[in-house]
Amino acid sequence: LLDIGHDLGRAALNARTFEHEHELVTELQALDTYKSQLIATVSHELKSPLTTVWGHLEMLESETLPIAPEARLSLDAISRASRRMSRVIEDLLLLRKVGETAKPLAPTPVDLVELVHDALAMTALSAQAKQLRIDLDLPSEPVHARGEADELDKVVLNVVSNAVKYTPDGRGIRVVLAPGERDDQVVLAVHDEGIGISEADQEQLFSEFFRSTNPEAVAQPGTGLGLAIVQRIVHRHGGEVAVRSALGAGSSFTITLPAHRGALSS
Ligand code: ADP
Repeated sequence: LLDIGHDLGRAALNARTFEHEHELVTELQALDTYKSQLIATVSHELKSPLTTVWGHLEMLESETLPIAPEARLSLDAISRASRRMSRVIEDLLLLRKVGETAKPLAPTPVDLVELVHDALAMTALSAQAKQLRIDLDLPSEPVHARGEADELDKVVLNVVSNAVKYTPDGRGIRVVLAPGERDDQVVLAVHDEGIGISEADQEQLFSEFFRSTNPEAVAQPGTGLGLAIVQRIVHRHGGEVAVRSALGAGSSFTITLPAHRGALSS
């Protein structure tokens, strides 16, 4: 889909000459708007047939009649593929939801300690299966950022689940929540002893659809949209996200967010 968008864009640009830079900028902005509308329309259109697929899958899986083993294998494959498709569509819709044309924030106090525990619960099965060591450095009191709970939830979940996904068996992850340099900030840091990210890859890490070509990273399923979503959400909250990493030595993602007044003031 994006390739089609790029090709259309390139064709449109090649077909015209631009006398002034601002004409080119306007044209590029129009193409960008077109691209996000195309993505949104296609995602919406794919969502409803997929809901039908899910409905039928559930019906077949709950069927009391015996299902032949070969048919069971096919059902499992369809189920996995549909789950992956749903994830891509949800991510595409979320990317647009938090993009430049997003609704303004309606911030409330959001407890980051709770979000970290939620994210760890969501990823617990994978972490246990890989026998990862999880080390937590969280205050015993709630730590309130100022923002939208469902968006910050995605941020924490994406960064924690990446740490779990890209850390080999038996190694460790450390999650730290602390006051920022300024007392109106809070900082969440997720360190892992995972496969690490090359310097070249770090430059593109937050771009839509970027996935490292490192074979150890490619082996993991993913859409390349998670960190683009993280960055957009953090920026629209007035925060910052930074990465420090070295190939083979692990990664640290540090997210600075505005604190809700009074958070971590002691
Ligand atoms: P996804 O994980 O779905 O591919 P993301 O946008 O979350 O997409 O991440 C983009 C890429 O950045 C990943 O494909 C992976 O190559 C790399 N990456 C992200 N987090 C980590 C991490 N903690 N350790 C190593 N590589 C990572």
